[in-house]
Amino acid sequence: MEPPEAGELTPPDRTLMGPGPSEVHPRVRRAMSTPLVGHLDPAFVDLMDEVQELLRYTFRTDNEFTIPVSGTGSAAMESAIANLTEPDDTVLVPDNGYFGDRMASMVRRAGGTVERVSAPWGAPLDPDDVAAACETHDPDVVGFVHAETSTGVLQPDVPALTEIAHDHGALTIADTVTSLGGVELRVDEWGIDAAYSATQKCLSAPPGASPLTLSERAVEKVTSRDAPVRSWYLDLSLLADYWGEERAYHHTAPITNVYALREALRLVAEEGIEARWERHERVAGALRDGVEAMGLGLASESWLPSLNTVALPDGVDDTAVIDHLLSEHGIEVAGGLGDLAGDVLRVGCMGHSARPANVLALVAALGDALA
Ligand code: PLP
Repeated sequence: MEPPEAGELTPPDRTLMGPGPSEVHPRVRRAMSTPLVGHLDPAFVDLMDEVQELLRYTFRTDNEFTIPVSGTGSAAMESAIANLTEPDDTVLVPDNGYFGDRMASMVRRAGGTVERVSAPWGAPLDPDDVAAACETHDPDVVGFVHAETSTGVLQPDVPALTEIAHDHGALTIADTVTSLGGVELRVDEWGIDAAYSATQKCLSAPPGASPLTLSERAVEKVTSRDAPVRSWYLDLSLLADYWGEERAYHHTAPITNVYALREALRLVAEEGIEARWERHERVAGALRDGVEAMGLGLASESWLPSLNTVALPDGVDDTAVIDHLLSEHGIEVAGGLGDLAGDVLRVGCMGHSARPANVLALVAALGDALA
């Protein structure tokens, strides 16, 4: 058999303004080209401590159990859901977006019973509806999506939701994939028991090592489960031995991704988390003003600066606009999902991509695409 021919790697130069990945900061790319050390090397163990400390800063938490899970955001998501759902537990999840549906599938696979709290796609959950659903279903866990990437909806007033859940004795799981490092998020102050995220959104590192934090109550549930978690790889009670005191082998950490995450989090700390939230709001605000000046509006009832759903005028083919932006301007954006398919563009403004130059380029290119 002849060896296959593959040319040198030359990815095109893109401006990444879609729902993720965002552009990776040059410092993060540089960190990824530094030499590997072993995943149990004392130097790597020190680096793990630093990553955990930087993650706590970014999540605004003192939670001891704060780690990057090996894998993309879905791995951190499934870790949270599979570990906090015992067979026969009832888990309340939203139905107002694509990622609430993914939560539901993961709960079912973990052996739990799914109950839904409803809101239209494009709207956030109403705390009164969450309270009514808690009354009716008495859930063990309440999951919600802080920043719904499919609809561009920010769930406001998170403490109202967590208070309702706690009053009913339920733990809370927050999807913070599109908010961590870009939109105000305060895990401890807001009473979130488990928050998971990803690196390729507002942290601007490549996907592959995904942040997760658990409160003491959540850790207690994980360690006192009757039945072991069905996934060996994502069993947090086993992973705790690697990320905790013992540093015992569980699986080989994705070393280069951990380097990348460390550098990305160093950038967050240098900028300051509050300043970073403010930058996202300011730069995405310019994007919103720009598209509104073109006569277009946003389709979300609760603006999420990191993901803007731009409503397209009737009769405009979303695929043609997306193709034009990519082929003529090298700019990546995405179309709508689910109930919003065909009606909107999803324009990200995340991390290193949240820069005035990118917004100017996008607004000008969109004007050209719609001309
Ligand atoms: N949750 C939300 C809100 C997301 O936007 C995504 C990815 O876009 C995920 C979960 C899953 O993350 P990943 O694609 O990195 O597995």
